[in-house]
Amino acid sequence: MYIAALTEPGKQHHNRSNHLVFVLLNAESHGLTRIQPEPYTCDCGEKLTAEVLDEGDESKSSWPNCKSWRNGGRKKCPTCDEYPSIGRDQHIRARGYEPTPKDDIKNVTQHQREEALEEHDGQCIACSNEAEYVKRMVPPRYGGSRELKNLAPLCDHHYEDYGHMFADLLQPAEWYQIHGISWRDVAESMRDQYADQGADSFVETLDELLDRGRPQNPYPYIDA
Ligand SMILES: [Zn+2]
Ligand SMILES: [Zn+2]
Repeated sequence: MYIAALTEPGKQHHNRSNHLVFVLLNAESHGLTRIQPEPYTCDCGEKLTAEVLDEGDESKSSWPNCKSWRNGGRKKCPTCDEYPSIGRDQHIRARGYEPTPKDDIKNVTQHQREEALEEHDGQCIACSNEAEYVKRMVPPRYGGSRELKNLAPLCDHHYEDYGHMFADLLQPAEWYQIHGISWRDVAESMRDQYADQGADSFVETLDELLDRGRPQNPYPYIDA
């Protein structure tokens, strides 16, 4: 279920600056399959954990005058001395999601697009301006469905000028992938909002998660 759109400012993901974050409850219901995040595997068989890649940095001929992999530099395997090319599926598994094979991805149809726009009165879900685009909240490469609940109408600005991400309010660890937005702040404000609406079981679930505190960062390449 979609509950809010937040903005992550700044250039955090080596691509565009500013991301629109779709906050969801239970992203599995949008088609996502979660797995234990996996480190990349080199062609030579070496598991490229963060520690192994640090070693790889030090084995670069221009080290330390070159970029570390942690700052977007190339990842070097110290075992075979190569710069492995990391495929799409490995990137997706490192994020903790089961990839959907490219050939299995189907486009959103014109009819589904129109239904999504109608559902939201033709308005962008981030700003209420007129929506011209429809974006999947959970992207198809992660299994994001074409169902109405996974389709976000967006205006030109929120489609063109932002990257797009999602984060599940019930998965605090997932928020290590988001920068500059605190899971705790969002969860507390949602809990208060839902308490006012009398949604008791949801408030209880959030209270439990808040009590449990922040889990360890499960991602091999994302700094806490
Ligand atoms: Zn290797
Ligand atoms: Zn907008």
